[in-house]
Amino acid sequence: MDAFICTACGTQYPPSSVAPGQCTICEEERQYVPPRGQTWTTPAALAGGHFNAYRQHEPGLIGIGTQPSFAIGQRALIVCTANGNVLWDTIAMLDAATIDLIKGLGGLAAIGISHPHFYTTMVEWSRAFGGVPIHLHAADQRWIMRPDPCIKLWEGETLRVLPEVTLVRCGGHFPGGSVLHWGKGAGGRGVLCSSDIATVTTDRKFLSFMRSYPNLIPLSARQVTAIGSALEPFEFDVIYGHYFDRVIARDAKRILDISIKRYSAALGGAYENE
Ligand SMILES: [Zn+2]
Ligand SMILES: [Zn+2]
Repeated sequence: MDAFICTACGTQYPPSSVAPGQCTICEEERQYVPPRGQTWTTPAALAGGHFNAYRQHEPGLIGIGTQPSFAIGQRALIVCTANGNVLWDTIAMLDAATIDLIKGLGGLAAIGISHPHFYTTMVEWSRAFGGVPIHLHAADQRWIMRPDPCIKLWEGETLRVLPEVTLVRCGGHFPGGSVLHWGKGAGGRGVLCSSDIATVTTDRKFLSFMRSYPNLIPLSARQVTAIGSALEPFEFDVIYGHYFDRVIARDAKRILDISIKRYSAALGGAYENE
């Protein structure tokens, strides 16, 4: 039996003889069913028409994204540390080349995922690297479509995965929406992998925040201010968003601060006369 994958969001469901009737993730108001209707693929069919591409963003940080773009189109990140490597977010496409290349880097010690839209084929990723733990925030447990013993739910506000890697719950886009802080990244200035919990905007000058990006549902000012509060204790100078080209290359903590102020001001009417 195949473990089918939704072509719109990349979520994989448990093995079954026929494809699921619908995708729970896509039916929910933060995602969408495309005009063509719901369609499905399998890991083998996906790998038959796609490959993964890689970019080293900086020493010890490698992005992995699928070509041609598949589903939401995000790229995952491998954070390489002296205590092991962490995969941050997953993508649906996992092929032999990707497994061999990551094993060449020393394999994975753990997987962390920001929110349910990027759970994709997480169980396949864990199994390919010896059943490493997948750390998901417990607040989003209801969106796990393929339960597995390798999934470890965490609660509270932070989870130290490795000595220099910490997951931070920010909420917002999802109640358990999390980001990854890498203290030794950016030459020791600190890196934040923000996924789309804090989204690097197209101009790469700001961050922005939404409950739903495709359906344009904003967060409240209170929710966005809470993201800033959650990240206040952490030092970082660079932010990597969820696409290859969404990077804030310097001064990222200040940019997060002014972005939160801009967002809140916009909701409060600051642009009403412009
Ligand atoms: Zn879906
Ligand atoms: Zn999302």
